[in-house]
This record gives sequence, C-alpha cells and structure tokens, in this order.
Amino acid sequence: MSLQEDVTEWSCGACGGTLEIVKVGFTYMKGNFEVDLPACNGCGLVLVSEELATGKMADAERILEDK
Ligand SMILES: [Zn+2]
Repeated sequence: MSLQEDVTEWSCGACGGTLEIVKVGFTYMKGNFEVDLPACNGCGLVLVSEELATGKMADAERILEDK
C-alpha cells in the first residue's frame, strides 16, 4: 500500500486544498475500527473511495469472523 504517497498528488475537489492522511473511526457490526483516510487540510472533507471503503469493510468482516 502506498496510500501515503499517492495522496500527496491529489487535491480537494471542493476547495482545491491539499490532502493529508487522517485516522477516522467508525463502528461496523458492533466493532470499532480505525482507518486511515485522505482528508482535506482546507475544508476537512474526507475522501472515501468505494474501492477503499469496500476493502476496509471486508477487512473488518474478516476480523470479526476470526473471533
Ligand atoms: Zn477542501
């Protein structure tokens, strides 16, 4: 995964600001997870690609099933 590097080449679609990786917590199927997502420095918009979100959800399901 080279998300950290890729994100520096993106800019915010809403305000044109630069993006940085932030930790975003969410609750899914009674589990709490933290994911690193690109967010805008300027307006705070958090970008979640469908591919990324689906991948993280799959990871979350795997974690839960392992218990
Ligand atoms: Zn922005």
